[in-house]
Amino acid sequence: MVHHALQVQDRQTEARAGASGYLTIDLAALRRNYRKLSAAVAPATAGAVVKANAYGLGGEQVCKALHAQGCRDFFVAHLAEAIKLRPLLPNDTQIFVLNGLQPGAEVTCADAGIIPVLNSLEQFRRWSSAGQKLGRVLPAVLQFDTGMSRLGVPPEERSALAADLKGCASVEVLFIMSHLASADEVDNRQNAGQLLEMRKVAAEFPGVKISFANSGGVFLGDDYHGVLARPGIALYGGAPTAGRANPMEPIVRLDVAVIQTRTVPAGTRVGYGGAYMTSAEMRLATIAAGYADGLPRSLSDRGAVFYGGVRLPIVGRVSMDSITVDVTGLPEGTLSLGSLVEVLGPNQTLEDVAEAAGTISYEILTGLGHRYERQYR
Ligand SMILES: *Cc1c(COP(=O)(O)O)cnc(C)c1O
Repeated sequence: MVHHALQVQDRQTEARAGASGYLTIDLAALRRNYRKLSAAVAPATAGAVVKANAYGLGGEQVCKALHAQGCRDFFVAHLAEAIKLRPLLPNDTQIFVLNGLQPGAEVTCADAGIIPVLNSLEQFRRWSSAGQKLGRVLPAVLQFDTGMSRLGVPPEERSALAADLKGCASVEVLFIMSHLASADEVDNRQNAGQLLEMRKVAAEFPGVKISFANSGGVFLGDDYHGVLARPGIALYGGAPTAGRANPMEPIVRLDVAVIQTRTVPAGTRVGYGGAYMTSAEMRLATIAAGYADGLPRSLSDRGAVFYGGVRLPIVGRVSMDSITVDVTGLPEGTLSLGSLVEVLGPNQTLEDVAEAAGTISYEILTGLGHRYERQYR
């Protein structure tokens, strides 16, 4: 039986390297996901949201793989992320900073060749002054708040911004954008409401291109695409739409090593606080990952791992560096020191883990720790 994708040879090599958890990131599947999203938004193009180190999976590796697949537009949240990525990407790419700029960061941003998403009249004016000072026309994206109340030019600043822009020779607006709050829910009326509002914005900035859809928005139909979509989670295999079959391919696999096994009688307490007590004889295995490795403490007594397709429930509390699971469902002796169990893989999706933890796939992905041996395939 093949229990995991890693070859025994690889495992031995890695064990020598001192790791006890293996995060495998399938860059070929990432590229297929990008192709799929590109096809779904054509004739619009798809950029890629690579904030938070590409949702925890490795900004450099992810961006390079996507570039090879034709992606040229990359979105991060912070200027610092963009500055780190800029020298790693070819010059035919654009890097956008979604969170806008802090006052005083304009020249750094301009000199680094990075494009800010301006979220207010104030940010626009600072960027325009920086352009004047530098004697250059600076590229920018304008984000508008169409109902999320998070980031973007608020409705009351729109006409002042439109007026400023008319008389402004130092800023070139590449496109305008907005972000959908409920795109993962196809029947949520907020989507149509935001679309309507975006059309009003577009009417105030005639002739300017639009970027609108995130992953969920890609699957809401052409109206939501604009010229440039900004998928994130779907690239990484997360489900773009709630309550529907996930059209994306998983790209992450996580296998964690067993570090101890034991058999305990009925009435034995397991883990911190003795919160779990066995009701019958139980075979246990402790695995080498915990909440410091991104497996939330909320998985205590709720989540599971898998081995050979068999579900192994988490018993007791998730510790910082380890988790204990009930392996009674496996024939005795199946697991031993060094065996690898599946945390994410064919038997358990990101969404499964997220649901058991009471969170969303985004939080699980971005939280995957730094102690795993990372392998890019
Ligand atoms: C994070 C983010 C995205 C990507 O969202 P997904 O749901 O991961 O596709 C797109 N646009 C903006 C403004 C974002 O902040």
